[in-house]
Amino acid sequence: MAGPAARAAIDPVARADDTAGDDRRSAPVKDADMTRTGSDSGLGHAAAIPQTTGAAFAAYEAVRHRLPPAGRPGACIAAETLDDIAGHFDAFLLDAFGVLNIGETAIPGVADRIAGLRARGKRVMVVSNAAGLPQATLVAKYARLGYDFAPEDVISSRAALLAGMAGWPRLSWGIMANPEVGLADLEALDVTYLQDDPAAYAAVEGFLLVGSGVWTARRQQMLEAALIARPRPVLVGNPDIVAPCEAGFSIEPGFYAHRVAEILGVVPEFFGKPYGNIYDLAFRRLGPDVPPERIVMVGDSLHTDILGAQTAGIGSALIAGYGFFAGHDAQAAIAGSGIRPDYVLARP
Ligand SMILES: [Mg+2]
Repeated sequence: MAGPAARAAIDPVARADDTAGDDRRSAPVKDADMTRTGSDSGLGHAAAIPQTTGAAFAAYEAVRHRLPPAGRPGACIAAETLDDIAGHFDAFLLDAFGVLNIGETAIPGVADRIAGLRARGKRVMVVSNAAGLPQATLVAKYARLGYDFAPEDVISSRAALLAGMAGWPRLSWGIMANPEVGLADLEALDVTYLQDDPAAYAAVEGFLLVGSGVWTARRQQMLEAALIARPRPVLVGNPDIVAPCEAGFSIEPGFYAHRVAEILGVVPEFFGKPYGNIYDLAFRRLGPDVPPERIVMVGDSLHTDILGAQTAGIGSALIAGYGFFAGHDAQAAIAGSGIRPDYVLARP
């Protein structure tokens, strides 16, 4: 796992993916080899970095005890596109990567499909774990890709994290995030970037993991050492373990959060799909007039989009032909995980 392929796969320049990988904008990280971290840190069984769809699936299965339980199993009805299921729903919650776009490229036909849904009176929103980017940046990004979402129709786990933190006392937080992206939306928080100074890790009162674009093995070691020295809250703004992108998979904050949970016994608090908190925000935007059975989550990931839909008690549609399962057997993954969507679409 530590060969050139593994290294390339976590090179932030090589992979400009979008979910949360949006925050990858800096120079390549030289020491981002997590397989080395495990042995160097002396902390034992470090999780291997998933490099294939099968390994990524296995990585999610390995942390199922920290994910919400699967809900009502769906019928996995096969259909071609969103048009085929439009009659069953009034509101469409679309994942970004694998539904709207692959990396910096819009998936052909999806903007027109959304326009068609709206013409039929449907509400279409984005529900994404892209915690690494500010709201305005996300909206601008989707506009660049050809999608005209109003700001209130873009719901990210950055907002879910912020909403969840409303109940927390004012603490000083160390943040896993790319400084080049900036702290818009988070201005009210007392945050310090977690970079290469161990003193920052020691000083803060809690940790926010929102973007892993410039995270390194050394920074992870410092985080783990700091948590051993003094356990503190760990809040996770992006529960994704990996995000598929053009070149393979990028490693997301959930990977590091599950790692500290696994090896240190820390209990992170997660915000974003598949947890209910991000859906609560979507429901608030939709208002009380849309019943849950008329809302559908559309996404390419069983363990985030579909499991999240079941957690929230809404319909679910897996996109099998793009993103996570592109070129792979989604049916085998459905059978293996027991996470059964209502619909399996060839494309959005
Ligand atoms: Mg996706």
